[in-house]
Amino acid sequence: MTQLSPTGNEFVASKGSDLTTSTFTRGTNLSGGTHEVINPATATIETTVELASLQDTDAAIERAAAAFASWRAVAPADRGRLLRRFAELVDAANEELAQLEVRNSGHTIGNARWEAGNVRDVLNYYSAAPERLIGKQIPVAGGIDVTFAEPLGVIGIIVPWNFPMPIAGWGFAPALAAGNTVVLKPAELTPLTAIRLAELALEAGIPPDVFTVLPGKGSIVGQRFVTHPAVRKVCFTGSTSVGQQIMRGAADQVKRITLELGGKSANIVFADSDIEKAAATAPYGVFDNAGQDCCARSRILVEASVYDRFLALLEPAVAGVQVIDPALPEAEMGPLISARQREVVSSYVEGDSVDVAFRGDAPEGPGFWYPPTVVLPRSTSDRVWREEVFGPVVSVLPFTGEADAIAKANDTEYGLSGSIWTRDLGRALRVSRAVEAGNLSVNSHSSVRYSTPFGGFKQSGIGRELGPDALAAFTETKNVFYAND
Ligand code: NAP
Ligand code: MG
Repeated sequence: MTQLSPTGNEFVASKGSDLTTSTFTRGTNLSGGTHEVINPATATIETTVELASLQDTDAAIERAAAAFASWRAVAPADRGRLLRRFAELVDAANEELAQLEVRNSGHTIGNARWEAGNVRDVLNYYSAAPERLIGKQIPVAGGIDVTFAEPLGVIGIIVPWNFPMPIAGWGFAPALAAGNTVVLKPAELTPLTAIRLAELALEAGIPPDVFTVLPGKGSIVGQRFVTHPAVRKVCFTGSTSVGQQIMRGAADQVKRITLELGGKSANIVFADSDIEKAAATAPYGVFDNAGQDCCARSRILVEASVYDRFLALLEPAVAGVQVIDPALPEAEMGPLISARQREVVSSYVEGDSVDVAFRGDAPEGPGFWYPPTVVLPRSTSDRVWREEVFGPVVSVLPFTGEADAIAKANDTEYGLSGSIWTRDLGRALRVSRAVEAGNLSVNSHSSVRYSTPFGGFKQSGIGRELGPDALAAFTETKNVFYAND
């Protein structure tokens, strides 16, 4: 490795380094101030990261634009090989990346290892793409008509704090495979694994400026991705309100966007289902990552005839969730990301507007801990039933019959995910087709596989990531007619 800049660029490194407090941003000299990275399990400072300024961002975008011509010209098989080499290094660094995520984000060590493994898997999956970006030859008179899948140029990827590694990989892996260069802004709170991934890309032989990570503020770095004309597409994952701003801003340049936004997903439990299994798994469908998951099944709808029995089974299941130091192998849930997020989450529960049915345990003392909490809304207009809490709070309501279940599930501006529990195949087919959401699972809570498409209906987003078709979001179709004479 020739240099250690997380931004992957010699220009920044050669400005003379200011090796301040950080062990993670060795050799950088970004001028957008600094950010103290807090360990959410202990509320202690982990390290300090330098942030990119507007000037740093412009310079990185311009270098990424300059690197585009040579990156797209790399032979398809060689581009694939470089991505597989990158995947190998991510795999070799799995434990290091996982430990970083535990300390930076409070993720359980089991989840964090899976997340680093997901980056490896997504790189491997899309490493086959450069050689398979196959166009069409369309029969026409007087010549030959051919389509090409052309890369766009510089892609700007904006990542939230809840899944720093996977969401970064879902953007950069297909973007790079298709021949684009990438500038990526991690969330200000969680930059550490992205910085390390950029170092690994360089070590793998991906040329400087092809994949640049820019720690920085959304209002500066992220916003510049939207306004800088050399950034041809923005992939944004985060809140619906910032997504709306990005969509408005992108209109000025008719800039391509993919948006993955919030969710308020339903877990629909029919009386004919395996109620024991539905209740035992429901906590993990919402409390994983302390509920800071856009796919969290935060509205449980239970058929009225089994409502009491379901709640009776849910209580011990919630009490059994292991909310402990996320570094311990048996941890099932860690802390929230920040003190602020804990305030936001508790605002949905404290006071007399909400009936708390029961709660699980959480450690006392330092760290941003919040116990798994089950609430019983008084009506479907309650704030806790309608808004994304993004914390370990789940609401339970009864329904009567299939039509009511579908109507209640769809009574939301969101449409990301959801689960349906039934043993009746016909009902599973009908309800899964009727629920307005991009990712559903029947008799399970799975949402994300790298080989299948992921994304939202309605205000949960625009476009799809992952799966066989994601390359289309990182290429433009070009049609060329070659005349016979
Ligand atoms: P957020 O405020 O929308 O931030 C997401 C990312 O956008 C961060 O990197 C943030 O940077 C950046 N950003 C903020 N303002 C920006 C602007 N004006 N222009 C460009 N970029 C900007 O969301 P969050 O607080 O990190 O995450 C929580 C929310 O994200 C939840 O509501 C959740 O629903 C949603 N989310 C959705 C998905 C999904 O796949 N659908 C996944 C994860 C999260 P800073 O960190 O510097 O502010
Ligand atoms: Mg925010």
